[in-house]
This record gives sequence, structure tokens and C-alpha cells, in this order.
Amino acid sequence: MRTGNDIIIIGGGIIGGSILFNLLKDGYKGKIAVFEKKNSMADESTALSAGGFRNIWSTVVNMKLTTMSIESFKNFKAETGVSIGFEQRGYLFTYYRKDWETIIKFRKFWEESGVKTELLDPVKIMEMIPGYKPGLDHLDSEIVEMLELKEIVGGLFGADCGVFNPTACAIAYFDLSCKNYRECVEINKNTEVKKLSIKDGKVDGVIVRDDCFIAGEKIILAAGAFSHDLLERSGVSEEQNIPVVPLKRMLFLVNKPPIEGFGKIPMIIIDNGVYFHPEADDLLVGRAKADQKPGYDYEMEKKYYVDIMNSYMQARIPGMEYCRIKNGWGGLYAHNTKDKNAIIGDHPDIENLIFATGFSGHGVMEAPAVGKCISEKLIQGDYVSIPEVTLLDFTRFREGRLVKETIVI
Ligand SMILES: Cc1cc2nc3c(=O)[nH]c(=O)nc-3n(C[C@H](O)[C@H](O)[C@H](O)COP(=O)(O)OP(=O)(O)OC[C@H]3O[C@@H](n4cnc5c(N)ncnc54)[C@H](O)[C@@H]3O)c2cc1C
Repeated sequence: MRTGNDIIIIGGGIIGGSILFNLLKDGYKGKIAVFEKKNSMADESTALSAGGFRNIWSTVVNMKLTTMSIESFKNFKAETGVSIGFEQRGYLFTYYRKDWETIIKFRKFWEESGVKTELLDPVKIMEMIPGYKPGLDHLDSEIVEMLELKEIVGGLFGADCGVFNPTACAIAYFDLSCKNYRECVEINKNTEVKKLSIKDGKVDGVIVRDDCFIAGEKIILAAGAFSHDLLERSGVSEEQNIPVVPLKRMLFLVNKPPIEGFGKIPMIIIDNGVYFHPEADDLLVGRAKADQKPGYDYEMEKKYYVDIMNSYMQARIPGMEYCRIKNGWGGLYAHNTKDKNAIIGDHPDIENLIFATGFSGHGVMEAPAVGKCISEKLIQGDYVSIPEVTLLDFTRFREGRLVKETIVI
């Protein structure tokens, strides 16, 4: 283990990987050490995510980060030779009357921002999703009342959105960095950072096992859902800490319904935030549990799928009662409790500490752009490609400049 580093990256997920990869690709010549507590890289939230990407957002910064990232995913194979399962199959959001009016108004904003969207009427939705029923006539009134279902009046389709394999992408970032820039990189797996070493308002390194001190000029915190607790262990006060908690989200791998053509559907978001997309021969289904308590909880609750999620699936697409659970898991969002957006950039009080965390539910789809932006900031002194990234700084919590994202799944 090297003792003097120019940069230390804490966390071997897709965010840490992208930062490493972009710094080296952009010509950074210093020594970079990565610390990952697990035995393998990209084995936490990155591996447990749904792998969805979309550029449809309510904030400019998220639109820019994802637009740039989608371009990078698209070109990844050509540029690196590594396949990351990039499938631009589209995202389809479906709406009741009240929200639909808002979506229609938002369309202009997306158009101006260069984000491709299409408004679909119910007939078009049915053409895109075989078996889909936008109305309620096929349902008992008791079911409609119990699930609080309403008629679907329209759909928002984003053709540039889709799915990819975040683990493959993250692993490629680390492998390519090691292969191409061996002299600059040191990857330390199975090495938990116990604490940051903070002296006189300055971080000068990290403490790992056996109280071993590793010096670093700049420390990048990319530890996902574990970031807040690491800072707390390092003696950072709550006032100086980030508003990030670990929050479980579950995914279920289920049988595809016996409906012709279902394997070609886009990622669809139906009633009550239930979303699914084809995953090889199955479907990957998710929904945020509204009353989920923060904590390091990974349990997959079958009952939640059967009692809550599948009811909406059956109601909207008869035949989905055959979507039985084959596998499933819980994973952690690094959930930013204030505005559900990433925290990127310098700590205002602790010198040399840089954040790249708090991505809530959209870290894998922003990873390529975040890596590039942090690389620009470190090498050139500024966020050149996406200046709006500065809005995601820590200071926004103190100054009341929250970047509220309303389109979260
Ligand atoms: C169920 C689910 C579905 C999701 N779906 C999507 C989606 O469709 N699209 C999307 O964009 N995002 C999605 N996300 C969110 C996405 O997974 C995260 O935003 C993203 O993985 C964040 O990447 P990361 O590198 O910051 O975190 P991680 O992948 O968690 O990486 C952080 C790493 O830091 C390591 N670490 C932590 N503490 C220490 C320490 N003290 N010392 C050393 N190492 C440490 C961890 O072991 C981990 O490997 C989903 C998340 C979940 C849970």
C-alpha cells in the first residue's frame, strides 16, 4: 500500500470508477489510490441498481448530466471495446389527468433543452405496450377504489432513454485505468477506510486497517450510502455533515407475462410509481416503498411485491398475475433527504475533501458525466462541460439553494 498519494478515492462503485477513468484519460499524471471495502469492485448499489437511464428531468443540471452520460454509454463499446449492455429501448411514463396537464406544459422546457420527448395518447400507449389497458372498464369498482386507480390520459415517451449494465461499466472503468495507466493507479480492495484524518480543518489522508495512515493531497468521497457515517466516524459534526441516509429500494425479477411482443417494451412507469423493463427473458420490477425507514436493510420483501406492486401490474395489464418472483434484492440509495440530488464538489469547511455522493436513485446514469466534471475541476479548475454542476455543491444546504428534482422514481 502506497503511503503518499495525490488523490485518494474512497469507494469502488461506478462513481469512483468514472472519476478515476476520466482523470487518467484527461491526462492527470499524479498518483491515485482507490479504497474499496469489499472484495470486488462495484459490488454495492451499482450492482443492485435497475440500470435505467433517462434524460427526462425537471432540473437542467440532471438533464445535462444524463444527456452527456447517455452519449458516453452509447459510444462506450466503440471507444473501449467493452460491451456494457447498452439498450436505448426508451422510457414511457403514464399519467392521470392532473399530472398530464403539468407534463404538457413541461414539454417546451425539454424541447428547449434538447431532450427528445413524445406525447402519446392512450391508443399509442396500447400499441407500444401489448395488453395495456388505459381505462378502468375492465376492472371491478372495488379494485379501482382500493388501488385509487384513475384513467390514463397520456404517456410521455423518451426515445433516448433505456437500460445498461452498470456493473460491467464500473468494472471496465477500473480495469481500463489499471491496464492503461498502471504507474498512476493503485486499487486497494478489501480495504475499508475507517476514518478520514482531519487536522486543523484539513483532510490529509485516511486511516485504514490496523490504524494505518495513508496520506493523500485530495480525498474524494464516493462511498455512496455509507458516506455520511464515514464522516461521522471521522469526527465531522452533523452541521458539517451531508444530509444523506442509506434507504432501501427493492427490485424483483419476475416471469414475463404470456403476452406476445412483451419482450420489446420500453421501461414503463405505470400507476403509483411501479416500473418495469424486460431483463433477458424476465422482467425487472421496482417501486419505491413510501414508508421505508433509513438504515442498512437489504431484505427483499416478497409480500410487498405480491400485495402492493403486483396488484397495480395486474390491474393495468391483465396477464401480469403470472409475473411470479424468480429472484429479488434490496439495495441502498444514498438518499439525499433535502433535495434528492447528488452532492458534488469541495467541502466548504474541510479543505481537500471533495464530495461525489448522495446520488439518491440516479447515480449510475450520471456517472460518466460526473467523472468528467470532477476531472475538469481538478485538472482545469472549473466545470467546463457542465457549469451547472456547481449548483450541486454542499453550500446549497446552508444557503437554501436546494436543487429540487420532482421527477424521481
Ligand atoms: C434498487 C436500486 C435501483 C436503482 N436503480 C437505478 C437506476 O435505474 N438508475 C440509476 O441511475 N441509479 C439507480 N440506482 C442508484 C444507483 O445504484 C446509485 O446512485 C449508484 O450506484 C451510486 O454509485 P456509487 O459509486 O456512488 O455507489 P456504490 O455503488 O454503492 O459504491 C460505493 C462504494 O463505496 C464502498 N465503500 C463504502 N464505504 C467505504 C469505506 N469506508 N471504505 C472503502 N470503501 C467504502 C462500497 O463498498 C461501495 O462499493 C438504484 C439503486 C438501487 C438500490
